[in-house]
Amino acid sequence: MKIAVYATKPYDRHFLSAANAGFGHALIFLEPRLDRHTALLAKECPAVCVFVNDQLDRTVLEMLAAGGTRFIALRCAGFNNVDLVAAQELGLSVVRVPAYSPHAVAEFTIGLLLALDRNIARAWARVRENNFALDGLIGRNLYGRTVGVVGTGRIGALVARTLKAGFGCEVLASDILVDPALEAIGVRYVPREELLSTSEIVTLHCPLTPETRHMIDAEMIAAARPGLLIVNTSRGALIDTRALINGLKSRSIGGVALDVYEQEADLFFEDLSNEIIEDDDFQRLLTFPNVLVTGHQAFLTEEALDSIAMTTLQSLADAEAGHILVNAVTAGGVIRPAAPL
Ligand code: NAD
Repeated sequence: MKIAVYATKPYDRHFLSAANAGFGHALIFLEPRLDRHTALLAKECPAVCVFVNDQLDRTVLEMLAAGGTRFIALRCAGFNNVDLVAAQELGLSVVRVPAYSPHAVAEFTIGLLLALDRNIARAWARVRENNFALDGLIGRNLYGRTVGVVGTGRIGALVARTLKAGFGCEVLASDILVDPALEAIGVRYVPREELLSTSEIVTLHCPLTPETRHMIDAEMIAAARPGLLIVNTSRGALIDTRALINGLKSRSIGGVALDVYEQEADLFFEDLSNEIIEDDDFQRLLTFPNVLVTGHQAFLTEEALDSIAMTTLQSLADAEAGHILVNAVTAGGVIRPAAPL
């Protein structure tokens, strides 16, 4: 199948090309992101392959459908950037990679938490300047601290398990579904409000939905335990950035580690080192000594990239063959058989 691969980076090209040896799709690698200005590039491609910051609103989907596209393959787990209702109405099937390597994201989450809590990034910056002073680098033990995990799906469950069984934390959890295996090791499910007001550290692992958008807002920050640490490797808009900045300024928030950012689509995945960054909120965040930001790289392991490429190309092979799309996402969350080509 002819597939227009948007927002291609060298690592996408490498892993998709390697995986494609077993499939034989015609991959057309495109560097721009998918939006209203670039949708025409997919003309006559039955499938497009997209990533987290490509824009798949109704207008873009209409342009794709008019150009002959039938399948959209997200090479990621989240699908908040796709208007699923419009896709369904236009007869576009959407597939994603629901679980490529939860370990990649869970391990990075723990890494970010430790780096924030123990000032590892600041220490490295000092050592590079031959500054070996330790003032200002005092951290806290994780052992015995209360950590709240919001969303205990594939990634959150691994994080909760690591914190509980590995580090000896008191782990609270909040989810619309309870995982009995986590309860069995002593993870305690509590209402989200209680989790947010009781925890010393909160780590976010739920999807971005209308219900979870700005879950961390001014009200929550006002009710939080003073000095709360927040880690977010899920989706940026779970946090109201302005409220977060105010929380940092007032010292209510003790530190933040972000791999995702609300307005990241304008920044992440590009080298902007020679550009003027116009996002004042982002620039303000970077001025705090207790803020650590990475550019949406929690997924970036060889294992995850290999798995993403294999699953994506398999889904499109299934679509071409008219098989059931096991990784389909629809507005109703129902898996539908692929429309034959
Ligand atoms: P998952 O679907 O396995 O788990 C999500 C969990 O969130 C589920 O248990 C679900 O019941 C729960 N949930 C849904 N609505 C909720 C709510 N309102 N309150 C609390 N919990 C709720 O997903 P996953 O694979 O664990 O991924 C979690 C998130 O991580 C994804 O949504 C994605 O946005 C993000 N992610 C980020 C990266 C990265 O590189 N930073 C990579 C992969 C995934």
